[in-house]
Amino acid sequence: MNEMAKLSGFEHLEHIDIPLPKEAATELFFQTDEDDERMWMPIGDNVWIRPLLFNVVQGTWCNIVKAKGAGLVGRHRHPAPVLGFTLEGTWGYLEGDWIGRAGSFVYEPAGETHTLVVHPDEGYMKVLFHNMGPILYVDEKGEQTGYEDVFTRIEMYKKHCESNGLGEAFVDNICR
Ligand code: FE
Repeated sequence: MNEMAKLSGFEHLEHIDIPLPKEAATELFFQTDEDDERMWMPIGDNVWIRPLLFNVVQGTWCNIVKAKGAGLVGRHRHPAPVLGFTLEGTWGYLEGDWIGRAGSFVYEPAGETHTLVVHPDEGYMKVLFHNMGPILYVDEKGEQTGYEDVFTRIEMYKKHCESNGLGEAFVDNICR
């Protein structure tokens, strides 16, 4: 019996039993409040990410980014959109005209270039981002200086997890 079926108060409801198509990817579910610090990977000074899902078919990924104080993510361009939902703190883009606060949602369109910074109001931020494609790091003229995609992220996170004892399998487990 699954967890929901065991809940009292739902006995009178018939649960449907339609199997997942055999070609479908497997479901992924976990609690991040059971995380340990090793699951957070530093990606700069005072910036960490907690990857939640790497989609190797679509080249997308979902992660929580946390940063504090002078933490920033250098100037970059998104050739594909990004969705962001602020969980805690205050943050924004040097190029933007808003302050992200707990509960705020942002859709960053394909083609946007920006520099992420922690806003001093709360001095830290924790934001859930869904990246629909790679990140291109650019110089002040917009010329590309580097990139990250789902595969470079996986490689980086595997190295991180190998070095702290979580192991590569921890990363394979969140790939679809
Ligand atoms: Fe960005």
